[in-house]
Order: sequence, then C-alpha cells, then structure tokens
Amino acid sequence: MTLAERARRVIPGGVNSGQRSIPGLTDLVITRTAGSRFWDGDGREFTDYHAAFGPPLLGHNDPDVAAAVADASGRLGLTGVAVTEGEVLLAEQLAELIPSIEQVLLTSTGSEATFHALRLARAVTGRRLVVKFQGCYHGWHDAVSLNVISAPDRVGRHDPTSTGILSEVLDATLVLRFNDPAALRQVFAEHGRDIAAVIVEPVPHNVGALLPTEEFLRALREECTAAGSVLVFDEVITGFRHALGGYQAISGVTPDLTTLGKAIANGAPIGALGGRADLMQYFSSRPGGPVFFAGTYNGHPLPVAAALATVRKLREQPVHEHVFRLGDRVRGELTALYERMGVPAVVTGYGSVFVSYFMPGPAPLSYDDLLANDTALFVGYRRHLVEHGIFELPLNLKRSHLSYAHTDADVDRLLEATEAAVRRTLAEGGPSDLTHTSTMGGAATTTGAR
Ligand code: PMP
Repeated sequence: MTLAERARRVIPGGVNSGQRSIPGLTDLVITRTAGSRFWDGDGREFTDYHAAFGPPLLGHNDPDVAAAVADASGRLGLTGVAVTEGEVLLAEQLAELIPSIEQVLLTSTGSEATFHALRLARAVTGRRLVVKFQGCYHGWHDAVSLNVISAPDRVGRHDPTSTGILSEVLDATLVLRFNDPAALRQVFAEHGRDIAAVIVEPVPHNVGALLPTEEFLRALREECTAAGSVLVFDEVITGFRHALGGYQAISGVTPDLTTLGKAIANGAPIGALGGRADLMQYFSSRPGGPVFFAGTYNGHPLPVAAALATVRKLREQPVHEHVFRLGDRVRGELTALYERMGVPAVVTGYGSVFVSYFMPGPAPLSYDDLLANDTALFVGYRRHLVEHGIFELPLNLKRSHLSYAHTDADVDRLLEATEAAVRRTLAEGGPSDLTHTSTMGGAATTTGAR
C-alpha cells in the first residue's frame, strides 16, 4: 500500500488541511524540501511556486532559519514557562516595522489571530456586525466561514463553508464587493452603529490577486473612523511578503488592528495580532480579564526563533529586491508570451505573487471580473506543468509565489514549460472534468481558500 493510500485509511480525506487534496494529485506525498524545490515519495523533483500557500518567502527549509530553530531548541526546549527574551524581541520588531502595531500578541495560526481580532472588536465596541469582502479568506472559524466567493450584499443570508455553524453567527457577517466604496458607504449609512469591525485582505490573494484602489482603502479608513468601527487588515499573506511593514506601509492606509502569519516565520507555525495599544490593552491573560486570550503554544520558542531569524534576513539581505525583480520579470514575460500565442490573458499580482488569468483585460478589480477567467485553461495548463516538474497549484484562482531561493534559471524553465503546457491544454480543449463548466464552455467556482 502506498503512503497516500495509508494516509486515506487513518486521516479523513488523507490530508490535514482541506485544500491539500488536489484532484489528479491525490497520491502526492512530500518527502523533502530545500530552497525552491520539493521532492515526492517517487523521487520526483518539483520547482515549487505554490509554496504551501505562501509561508516560505526565503525558500523552503532556509538554513539560517533552521539553525536559529535548532539553537532555540537546544537552549529553551519546547515550551515557554513565562515570557521569553525572543517574544520580547519579536514584539519590539513588529511594533517597529508595522505602522499600525503598538502592541502585539502571538498565536500559533492566522485563523486564531483573525478570531481574536473580531472578538476584541466586538468586546470594545459592544456591537454585533462584522463586514467582510468577497474574495477574501480569514480562516476556518465561524464568524468568517462564508464561502470566499459568497455574493456581496448578503445581508441576512449566508453561504457557509461548513455545516455545524450557528446561523446566528453567520447572520452577523455582511459580505460586500471588494473595491466598491459606494457599497461600503451604503452599508455604513444603514448599519454603521452596529458594525463592530471591517476585516479585509488589503490585496485579496485568496482569489489570486485583486489590487485595491486607493479610493477603496481610503473609504475603509474613513467609514470605520466615522462610525467608531475597528478596521482590521488581515495581512496573513501580505505581511512581510510584500514589505516588512506589510501592505499598509505600501498603501499608506493604517488599520486599527493587523493580523499576521505565514511569511513572518518562513513556515514555522506562528500568527500575530497587533494594533493600537488602547485596543490591545483590553486583552488580559488573567481569567475574567476584559477579553480572554490564551494558548498553550502562544509565543512558543521555536516559531519565535524562526520569526526572529526571518526578520533578520529580510532586514539584512536584498530579499524583497530579489523577489520583486523576479516577479516583474515573470509578469512581463508571461504577458509577452500569451500575446505572442494569441491567448487572451491578464498576468497580475504584486511583488513575489503572480497569477495568469485567462480572460481579456483590464486587470480584475473584484470577483465579478474573474467570472471571465477560463477555468479549464487555468487548471489545465497547471496540471501539465506538473509533468514538467513545475508546481503551480492546479486549482482555480490560486496564486503563485516566488522566493529568495528562486533563480532566473528557474524562471527561464517556468516560461518554457508554461508555453508548452498552455499549447497542450489548448490543443486538447482543456481537461475533460472542467471543460463543461469553463469558458472553453462557462465558469467554475472556487469554494475554499488558503
Ligand atoms: N487570513 C488569510 C488572508 C489567509 O490567507 C489565511 C490562510 N490562508 C488565514 C487568514 C488563516 O491562516 P491559518 O491557515 O494559518 O489559520
């Protein structure tokens, strides 16, 4: 019996996170990673652009991060008794680097960070409603467990990602269209006094890449300030990846709270929630404190050491310069490639993140625009890329990531393989399980996100 078959016997679905079960790749078992590569149980080598949904900005298994973790393990073992020096150093760095952060707490995952952000907002404001946006994902907990592509303006209706959630919880979450300041202003006009928080991915990367307009981000800040609602930037993907200060440092719009995860420790399990001290002060680790916050593994010495080593490398080495240059090269050369091939495509993204949508331009601003994406071609060419030893996740609307470990030679191979994979997909008319729902005949949907 293969490892994958054994996994399916003892692990529900054979994987420990829903979106790791990939149609056509259910036998993939990873045995080793290094830099821009991973290897599977059959010894096949892949250049990885999926990057486990984004953490390894420095590359897989970065030697400096690994050495810092080994050192912390030798000195501190596996658990903190009281606060450790590393937690203090990390909090100081996050407060220094990220505009909105005056105080910060550590969690083990991004979902915990967004959970606590919304609980804090409700506690501080005494209000019930949360506003989120179509195309954004904020974790697995109930308040945000609406399908990432749930239609906007679903006041009082819901489209949950899971059964087992109380409808009262979902009723308190309103979904709006991204980049639509008029819809935002209208919902604030109608419900402003009940809105505890607005939570947003400043760049919704859970449907690839929708770049925010300046007007939209400003409207978020203005409406939340005017109504006394808490603005939460979920920078779990964008934090550190797009800049050490997050996308807020790039856009100049400062939220009240910020959530972080993924790239801040290059793959070690850590998340963070930080923001205005007058809000963060409500947290108390005392039982019965105003807002309860706890976790056996919060501030764990090993992920903290990984985060500190990651920050150090991002500050000392030209990581962002490298990934931004490669990202611009990939976007520019893929655009030229599709033009030469006569394939309608928009190649977009930001910095190290890129995605090819197979649709006419201009670049999409909201999920509605992505309905024109040809799902069969999007998924089909990525399935063929696997045969070239290149891994871009073969699921609709998933983004790809570059790391400090990717090279120009990797990009040369990516471009060549993409041309071959797209040609082959077009010649075949797309994968048979997707052609009937794609614009090679109609749009297929994405339910989950990561
Ligand atoms: N927010 C965003 C923007 C995310 O993309 C994710 C995970 N993909 C989360 C929150 C949840 O993080 P985690 O999976 O670490 O719980």
